[in-house]
Amino acid sequence: MSVAPPTISAVDAMKELSAAATVGRTPAAAIELTPAQRRTLEGLIGNGVRPVFAPELAQRLRDRIEEAVRTAELERPLWVGKSLLNDLGRCPGLFDAVRSGEREPFAFSSRFASGRLVHKAIELEVAGREDRDPHALASAAAERLNEDEAFSAYWSGLDELRQDETLMEAAKTIELFRSTMPPLRRLRRELSPSTEWNVRVELLGGALVLSGTMDLVIGAPAAAEPGRATRLAIDLKTGKAWPEHAEDMRFYALLLTLRFGVPPYRVATLYLDSGEWQAEDVDRPMLDRAADRVVEAVRAASAADRGHPTPLRPGPYCTWCPRAATCPSSAAPTAAMA
Ligand code: SF4
Repeated sequence: MSVAPPTISAVDAMKELSAAATVGRTPAAAIELTPAQRRTLEGLIGNGVRPVFAPELAQRLRDRIEEAVRTAELERPLWVGKSLLNDLGRCPGLFDAVRSGEREPFAFSSRFASGRLVHKAIELEVAGREDRDPHALASAAAERLNEDEAFSAYWSGLDELRQDETLMEAAKTIELFRSTMPPLRRLRRELSPSTEWNVRVELLGGALVLSGTMDLVIGAPAAAEPGRATRLAIDLKTGKAWPEHAEDMRFYALLLTLRFGVPPYRVATLYLDSGEWQAEDVDRPMLDRAADRVVEAVRAASAADRGHPTPLRPGPYCTWCPRAATCPSSAAPTAAMA
């Protein structure tokens, strides 16, 4: 099969790629796909016709949010990310505590360090110019992260055995990633993969900031068809599925729409332990729902700023709520019970 010409649409490129995968080769080179990789290529990335969205969609969503909260009074800019929205869904008191900065100052935990190591290794896996084995990738990622003062201080505080364990954990996750996804580095031209997308959108003249970081985005804009959705946003997880993950991805769909004017065609959480995914095609009701969650957050923040009593909804999350010790409704075990 010949190499796809530069003018080919993203959809056609995907079809060509999928067809080539069926016979174990790609337009660019012979690349064998395992059954698991082919399943992801065909089932998650997909090769169907991508939807076309109206050019005014992004502005309509922006208006929907801004008009709904125009009378809201915020004492300071409100930064909204997926976690804060989930906190509001759990308990408005938790939401208010977190957005008011009552959380313990950030500490560089081993879990956080391992996560960063894996993300950096996957970045090198996708962006690197040569094949490396998973352990070499994890080591290269640790070396790169050592340029970061906080990571370096954490890493150098580990004994060699702990460093080796952490590298091995990261190598295992990279192997899971490789076994699940088609080889993205070798398919860069066809799939345009990129990692760690930091996206920020300012609304209400900067009084409201929406932000998020997507683990992996596949697909590039279709130059000939600006309204066609060509991107797939993926969050990578090693744990089990939670309902919040779907809401997180809907929020990312909103972010990408507001930022680029065109939604992704699909958003998904990919669970590397199982190779399963929770995916949703993007449509207007999904984006409206995501926008309405943002509106709820602005209203909740504004009500708290104006001194209205914050509703309390206790639950298991009280355990990590900054107000657990003082809240009258807290369900967190008391020190004596603990
Ligand atoms: S302790 Fe529980 S009920 Fe109280 S604010 Fe925190 S999450 Fe809400």
